Amino acid sequence: MTTPTVVGIDLGTTNSLAAFVLNGVPEVVRDASGNALVPSCLSFHPDGTVLVGRAARERALADPTHTIFSVKRLMGRTLADLQPDLPHIPHQLVERDAEAGRKVLRVTIDGREFTPEELSAMILKEVRKRAGNPTKAVITVPAYFDDAQRQATRDAGRIAGLDVLRIINEPTAAALAYGLHTKGTGVVAVYDLGGGTFDCSILQLTDSVFKVLSTNGDTHLGGDDFDRAIMSMAAKEMGIDLTTTKDAWLLQHLRDAAEKTKIALSSSETAEFAIPDFRRTFTRAELDSLLAPFIDRSLEKCRKALRDAELTPADVNEVVLVGGSTRIPFVRRRVAEFFGRTPHTDLNPDEVVALGAAVQADILSSGRRDRLLLDVIPLSLGVETLGGAMDRIIERNTTVPCTGTTRYSTHKDNQTAILVNIYQGEREVVAANKLLGQFKLSGIPPMPAGFPVVLITFRVDANGMLRVSAKEERSGVEAAVEVKAAHGLSQSEVERLVLESVEHAHEDFAARRVIEFRRKGESALDHMTKALAAHGDKLTHEQRSAIDVASAELRVAMSAGDLPTLEQANAAFEKVILPLAELQMNVVTSALLRGKTEGEVLADGV
Ligand code: ADP
Ligand code: MG
Repeated sequence: MTTPTVVGIDLGTTNSLAAFVLNGVPEVVRDASGNALVPSCLSFHPDGTVLVGRAARERALADPTHTIFSVKRLMGRTLADLQPDLPHIPHQLVERDAEAGRKVLRVTIDGREFTPEELSAMILKEVRKRAGNPTKAVITVPAYFDDAQRQATRDAGRIAGLDVLRIINEPTAAALAYGLHTKGTGVVAVYDLGGGTFDCSILQLTDSVFKVLSTNGDTHLGGDDFDRAIMSMAAKEMGIDLTTTKDAWLLQHLRDAAEKTKIALSSSETAEFAIPDFRRTFTRAELDSLLAPFIDRSLEKCRKALRDAELTPADVNEVVLVGGSTRIPFVRRRVAEFFGRTPHTDLNPDEVVALGAAVQADILSSGRRDRLLLDVIPLSLGVETLGGAMDRIIERNTTVPCTGTTRYSTHKDNQTAILVNIYQGEREVVAANKLLGQFKLSGIPPMPAGFPVVLITFRVDANGMLRVSAKEERSGVEAAVEVKAAHGLSQSEVERLVLESVEHAHEDFAARRVIEFRRKGESALDHMTKALAAHGDKLTHEQRSAIDVASAELRVAMSAGDLPTLEQANAAFEKVILPLAELQMNVVTSALLRGKTEGEVLADGV
C-alpha cells in the first residue's frame, strides 16, 4: 500500500476515516478487510489498555459501561453548553478548574479522567495509524462549529501527532469531493444524515470561495433514532419495557440487531431482526413508516435553512447526500421530492467528506495557488461593550482569512487597564452569545475617561480561528494579547499532551532522563569544584587524577547527551568522588563537635 504523508480526515460523531489523493484521484484508506470506517468509539479496560474503533464497538456488547461514544458532541463545550444534552450523554462528566480561571471538561471512566481532546486524539491516532502514520492532515468539522469547537478539534489533531494544515467545513468538503466548484457559480444544498446528527447546509460556490449561506440541523436526529424505533417495536412485541429495563446486555443486543436490520433493508425488501431468543421479519415498508416522522423533521430543517438563505428549493443547482443514513432508499426519495431534483449519489455517502478533505489537503500541500479554496466564518465575532451589548467586529459569512478592527476606550478617569470579553454569535446582547475568552490590555497611561483610544484588531486565519491584538493609540502601548480561552485546553496543556502522547512516550522518557542526568551531573561537578578548593590538598595524587579523568568524561557525556554513556559517566564520577565526600564529612562532623551549628558549617562553604 502507498503511504500518504498528507491526508484528509472526517472525524465523525459515529465514524471516522481518512482519505488521500493518489495521482490526482482521492481515495479512502481501508484496512486489510476493506473497511474504511473507524467507529468513533473507545473501550477502556481495567488494566489500562484502550480499544479503538471496531474492536471497541464490538466490546460494547459485553461491556457497555466502559465504552465511550460520540465524543464529538463534547468537543469545545462547557458543562453549561451541554446542559440540554445531558440526558442523552451516558458518560460521567466533570468540569475542573485550570489556570487563569479556565474550565476544562473531563470524562470520568473507571476513576480516570480524559479531556474530549484526548479522547478524540485516540480516535485520530487510530485513523492515522491505518493510513501509515502521515504527519499532516486536513480535518473536517460541521459548518456551525464555533471557534472553541474548531480549536478543540485542532488540538486533538496535534495531540495525535498531526500537523493540522486546515480545519474545513464538512459540507465544503462534500461539495469539493464532487468537484462542484469547477462548474462556476451555483447553489449547493448538502443534506447530511449521519448516526446521531443531521445537518443541512446551503452553500454558494464560485470557483474559489465556498460560502456557507446558512446551516440548520438537529444535533439529535440520525441513524441512532431509526435503530431505536426498530428496537422499540421489537421490544414491545417481546413484552419488554425499554423505559424501565436496566439490562445493559439486552439493550445493546437489541440495538445491534436493529442497526443490522436497518442496514439490510437498504439493499433488500425484507430483513431478519434476530437476537438470541427472538426473531422477526421487517419489511422496507415498515421501516419507511417508522422513519417518516424523522425525515419530515429533517426536511423541515432544510426549509428553514433555505429560508435563512432567502432561497427556495428551485434556486438549488445541486443536492449532495452525505452520511451513512442517506443510503436508505426512502431518505433519497424524500430528499429528491423536496428539492425537485435527483441528488448526487455517485460517491459513497459516508466517505464523501473524507474524500473532499483529501482534495483540500492535496491542494494545500502542493501549494497550487490557482485552486486555493476558502471558507467563510460561520458566526460573527465581537467584543462586549458597555451595557452588555455585542459590538460585532467581523460579520458572519466573511471569507477567511479576514481582519476587523474596533475602537475601545476607558470608562473611568485614570483607568490603566481594560478587560475585554470576546464573544461569538449573532445576538445583540452578549449574554445570549458564546464567550470565547477575554484579554487584558494594561499599562495605559492615566488619562480622563474615554480619552484613550484602544484599537482592537481581530484576525481570523484560514482555519476560521481567531487571534486578537490591541493597541492604545495615544501612548502606543501595545498588548501582546493572548486570548485566554474561557474553557478548553491552554496551549501549554496541549504541548504537554503532545509530549505525553503514547506514541512519543519512549523518546520522551529518554529525553527526560538525559535532562535529569545533565542536571545531576552539573550540580555534582559544581559541588566537586567547591570541595576540591577546600580539601583538594588532602587527596592522594591517584585520587586527584581519578577525579580529573572522571569529571572530564562526565562533561563530554553531558554535552553529547547519549543516555547510556551519560548514565555510566555519572556512576563513575560518583565513585571517584567518594574520598572527597568523606573528607568533607569529617570536616563537617568535627566542626559540629567544636560547637558550630550545622547552618554555620554549611555557610562556611565546606
Ligand atoms: P457520522 O457522520 O455521525 O459519524 P456516518 O455518516 O458514518 O455518521 O453514518 C453512520 C450512520 O449511518 C449509522 O447510524 C449507520 O447505521 C448508518 N448506515 C450506514 N450504512 C447504512 C445503510 N446501508 N443503510 C442505512 N443506514 C446506514
Ligand atoms: Mg459525518
